[in-house]
Amino acid sequence: MPQQTAPLVELEAKSPFELRQHHSENMPETALRDALARGDMGFLHSFTTGSCVDGPGVRVVAWTAGCMWRCLYCHNPDTWNMRNGLPVTIDRATEELRKYRRGLNVMSGGLTLSGGEPLMQQRFAMRLITAAKDMGIHTCIETNGYFGDRLSDADLDKIDLVMLGIKTWGADRHRQLTGMDLAPTLTFAQRLANRKRPVWVRFVLVPGLTDDAQSITQIARFAGELGNVERVDVLPFHQMGRYKWMELRMDYKLHNTEPPSNEAVESVCEQFRAFGLKAY
Ligand code: SF4
Repeated sequence: MPQQTAPLVELEAKSPFELRQHHSENMPETALRDALARGDMGFLHSFTTGSCVDGPGVRVVAWTAGCMWRCLYCHNPDTWNMRNGLPVTIDRATEELRKYRRGLNVMSGGLTLSGGEPLMQQRFAMRLITAAKDMGIHTCIETNGYFGDRLSDADLDKIDLVMLGIKTWGADRHRQLTGMDLAPTLTFAQRLANRKRPVWVRFVLVPGLTDDAQSITQIARFAGELGNVERVDVLPFHQMGRYKWMELRMDYKLHNTEPPSNEAVESVCEQFRAFGLKAY
């Protein structure tokens, strides 16, 4: 496949909330498959800098395109389709990251791969993570864990932090919320615990969807027993992604869902703290 170089202006986006579509629309299926198999090209929604909420310190975030889950509250549904992503060579992504190396180290930050679901393109993800490690940059991946078995133990050892999304508890409830099974996420969480790899759990609090007290208690118990969960981020649902569902003419079911109150978020944090976890 010919190497593609995209102008810098296309790589940058103001934020992951910027709607992006069709960047790889014309790429032949075989070329896309080859790129995924080799990992020498990835498909990015955007590449943002200066994030303080996607891991420790100040982060560069590569937002990958492609996700097989269908969370009802997803605020980035334009990242579901890999063909919405911009094709970026591993050399280009590495070169871009190198520009921020010194600043990231000074600000105790690093690289975060988020999405979408980064493990949809795990070869590219691991090549970029390896490049970051070679530059002495802290590495983090934000994932739903479903494809955790695509990573070898050696891969896991190169990832300094996994931010693992646990959406809800119970097989049926999870499938209703995300369209997918919960079990692979929990298996991945257990494997990370067995290898003593640092994990932050991310839990999105959506009134009426994920705020069932029993489910939260079960997630908290599970996370507390793992022994490697450094913190839990309780993320309040918001409506910032609603316009994307509208623009994409998708069936958005949460028009009438309000963000949780600060008290509700704090109460869920307390549920996690009751199992010995730090929760924010
Ligand atoms: S796993 Fe993340 S990117 Fe995928 S549908 Fe759910 S919220 Fe959206």
